[in-house]
Amino acid sequence: MIIVMRHGATPEEIAGVVAKIDAAGLKAHVSQGTELTVIGAVGDERALKPEMFELLPGVERAMHVVKPYKIVARDWQPKNTVVDVRGIPIGGPDLQVIAGPCSVETPEQMAQAARAVKAAGCRLMRGGAFKPRTSPYTFQGAGVEGLKMFRAAADREGLPIVTELMDARLLDTFLEYDVDVIQIGTRNMQNFDLLKAVGQTNKPVILKRGMCATVSEWLMAAEYIAAGGNHNIIFCERGVRNFDPAYRNMLDVTAIPVLKRETHLPVIVDPSHAGGKAWMVPALARAAIAAGADGLLIEMHPTPCEAWCDADQALAPDELNALMGELRGIAAVLGRGL
Ligand code: PEP
Ligand code: MN
Repeated sequence: MIIVMRHGATPEEIAGVVAKIDAAGLKAHVSQGTELTVIGAVGDERALKPEMFELLPGVERAMHVVKPYKIVARDWQPKNTVVDVRGIPIGGPDLQVIAGPCSVETPEQMAQAARAVKAAGCRLMRGGAFKPRTSPYTFQGAGVEGLKMFRAAADREGLPIVTELMDARLLDTFLEYDVDVIQIGTRNMQNFDLLKAVGQTNKPVILKRGMCATVSEWLMAAEYIAAGGNHNIIFCERGVRNFDPAYRNMLDVTAIPVLKRETHLPVIVDPSHAGGKAWMVPALARAAIAAGADGLLIEMHPTPCEAWCDADQALAPDELNALMGELRGIAAVLGRGL
């Protein structure tokens, strides 16, 4: 921890800070500048809190120098982590595109969607059986029946499934249906009990960014999962709230290099919930890959205009196909596979 003294702090005030550091079992290192005195507390700074010092006379401010997240931090593991989903690597040199409908509707819709996902060359499929809807009067998802439909359709095409968990009480059901990747949605990024619950499993988890969350809060949310023993975490940027109603959310492309620097875990991007319109998806997807994302989570529906949820932003199968072709070109330039 670093404690910055106020301009003109007296020797007694400096001694008071040093005594407090000593009492906590750390060593104080006093650095006297021409304008200010800065005191470093050397040792395990977890024993210290900024408030312990900021209330002392003569102290301007105090701050931690060690990051509050550990397991997920690149400082602690410099090498990229590759999350394995039934033999499919996420976070390695190959990019992965996870595609599928916003929600699981019917067995026919899922069968058509699974065929289209496979035909486009995507290796994992998405689909929500439990939907976090803004209105309680809109379609809430097909529930456990939806998990069954999803599993059957994806199994026929040999695709691992990605689906959202909203309630820890359903975790056993998710494990029963052998959900391959558990998605934690934007609205639950700081549902700490849910994070702790998935932290107790060994299932890969896609942790979407809270719509108003800072990168640091997002990393701390991942640390909750990791602290339970589950290190199979994939970050997913899906756009943040912004002032402009011209689009659903603002895709924070800046977060991609920032996260890649801060964490060794894979980072993917959901361009569908960012733009909120199908026509924006290709541009945002291309930007995400160019900025260093390890993959994408894209909404695709066999017949978008009939989708029960997020129809506006769903790509049609031929649009997904065309996008995959473009992304292969970008991947090749970057020395990555798709
Ligand atoms: C989704 O992926 O279907 C979803 C609801 O996303 P988000 O949590 O990002 O809104
Ligand atoms: Mn959706």
